Amino acid sequence: MKLLFYDAKNYDVESFTATQREFPDVEIEYIKSDLEPRTAALAEGFDAVCAFVSSDAGRLTLRLLSERGIRLLLLRCAGFNNVDLEAAAEYDIRVMRVPGYSPEAVAEHAIALALSCNRKLYKAYNKVRENDFSLNGLMGFNFYEKTAGIIGTGKIGAAMCRICRGFGMRVIAYDVVPNDTLAEFVEYIPLEKLLSDSDVISLHCPLTDDTYHLVQLDTIRQMKDGVILVNTSRGALVKTEDLIEGIRMHKFAGVGLDVYEEEAGNVFEDRSDEILEHSTTARLLSFPNVMITSHQGFFTREALSAIASTTLQNCADFLQGRESGNDVK
Ligand code: NAD
Repeated sequence: MKLLFYDAKNYDVESFTATQREFPDVEIEYIKSDLEPRTAALAEGFDAVCAFVSSDAGRLTLRLLSERGIRLLLLRCAGFNNVDLEAAAEYDIRVMRVPGYSPEAVAEHAIALALSCNRKLYKAYNKVRENDFSLNGLMGFNFYEKTAGIIGTGKIGAAMCRICRGFGMRVIAYDVVPNDTLAEFVEYIPLEKLLSDSDVISLHCPLTDDTYHLVQLDTIRQMKDGVILVNTSRGALVKTEDLIEGIRMHKFAGVGLDVYEEEAGNVFEDRSDEILEHSTTARLLSFPNVMITSHQGFFTREALSAIASTTLQNCADFLQGRESGNDVK
């Protein structure tokens, strides 16, 4: 089986090379370009392709891949909102993903963002390096006995609930399907109540038609003044223009984002000044209480190794015609 690996970074090559020894039937070629219609033709002569959250696996890409005989799209990530599943079924391309490689990796990053925003660690770091040891502008609040509102309590949201409980927080949650394993300490409540009661709100639901722009002016207005908002899930859960307005209204003590709407356009990888100047992400960065990281929630040794194993196991299951719980349909 010949696998074309799109958008390969050095760390991908390292983790997949280390794991590949256990899967001798899979031969991998790594390329730097991401998957999109213009690069689909590169899959000529391969049996499968491996893509990421940033890839464009829309109808046109899938048609071009299928014309080149590709029957398997391996997503080395959990989210699959960038794949046109209807088109994949039509073109007979099996789509497989890595549903839960390390929920703790993302949840730990979410709490890191919440804490950094609260205690202004980025500001403190810079101040001290410039020999300014004053505490001006660094005041935060205790998380202990405050309320954490978790939206989406699947694998990552559940890990976040456990972390917040460890801080001694009251944990409330909203999900369309409550998670029974959390019943002992998580109180499920309607979304409106979660928004108005939470001191820290963390988003852990997938991006769907129902959750698109879940955070917009209406929902922001329902939040407590001085709330901390964290999004490590998908950028488009938050309407950036409205978030900027909310920040201007002084709604937030802090906003921590690992994902942002313009991510698909690779604002930060394509660092042209003009793009940066006009991007809403750059406007967000101009606020002192916003902290943005570059979609690194998943980026731990353990998670990368689990991603490589599951992706190659998915490949092996495909080769042997085995059913898998990792199919996306
Ligand atoms: P999961 O499928 O285990 O959990 C998602 C939860 O969201 C489920 O409990 C589901 O019922 C709930 N949900 C679905 N629709 C909802 C709605 N309308 N309102 C409220 N809840 C809703 O997924 P997961 O593994 O916990 O991952 C969550 C998200 O995290 C992924 O979809 C992905 O976008 C994101 N993610 C980010 C990174 C990163 O590096 N930042 C890494 C992995 C995943």
